[in-house]
Amino acid sequence: MSVEYLAELMRAHQPCVVLTGAGISTESGIPDFRSPTGIWRRYDPMEYATIDAFLADPEKVWDFYGKRLASLAEVEPNDGHRALAQLEQRGWVDAIVTQNVDGLHARAGSRTVVEVHGSIRTSSCLECGTTVPFADALARLPVPTCPTCGRVLKPDVVMFGELLPQAAMDRAVRLASEAGLLLVVGSSLEVYPVAGLPLETLAGGGKLAIVNRGETQFDVDAAVCIDAGAGETLAALAEALADRLQ
Ligand code: NAD
Repeated sequence: MSVEYLAELMRAHQPCVVLTGAGISTESGIPDFRSPTGIWRRYDPMEYATIDAFLADPEKVWDFYGKRLASLAEVEPNDGHRALAQLEQRGWVDAIVTQNVDGLHARAGSRTVVEVHGSIRTSSCLECGTTVPFADALARLPVPTCPTCGRVLKPDVVMFGELLPQAAMDRAVRLASEAGLLLVVGSSLEVYPVAGLPLETLAGGGKLAIVNRGETQFDVDAAVCIDAGAGETLAALAEALADRLQ
């Protein structure tokens, strides 16, 4: 189905909230998790991405995160991030809920961004709560320690086995349930509770649209599914819509 139909949905069903996953950032050079070139094909998430693994061997997990997250600092937003920032500025998008920790939506100019899986911008001490900018943590590798109490720092990204930041998740649920349209971009919709957000929108009477390479469990519920690259699709969507607020 076409981008023109997606534009029609966006015109007819406001407000629009966008839910993004790792797939919007692959065109910036960041691998996603679950596709054939994804990170979990090379690393076992049980060894590198759970809070238990981190507590058992912080040096091993910091070695993984340090390399991965340092490379995130060098990447740039792509056409998809820029198109969403433009759509917000022009009144078509109310908010972005993102599972990404890369900060690229904000760097592209999006203003209302809810980061439900945390962000790489900071690391915090699990003992005393001191927070430091991520670059300071990287400077303290192999095991970054807290400048206040000397215990180990943890990147402020949500690991498996940890609760999601409550305020961000509450806000995401509210946005999804009040959305006239939830536009999912680049997410396999496999990781809960975020994967439950489409159900909030549908239960509230809103429509669901999905732009994703590959299938998701919610394709059958979506008014439109576009199996194509996020960058080209969102750029075409922005092109198809005139300014809403004028
Ligand atoms: P996922 O890897 O499970 O799914 C990504 C989906 O995007 C896949 O279906 C893939 O086929 C699709 N995709 C890849 N490139 C695409 C493109 N150019 N255009 C359209 N679709 C494309 O990722 P997810 O659903 O976000 O899983 C959630 C987890 O991934 C979260 O925990 C999130 O924190 C984490 N994650 C974040 C980043 C990042 O911050 N950039 C990177 C990797 C993983």
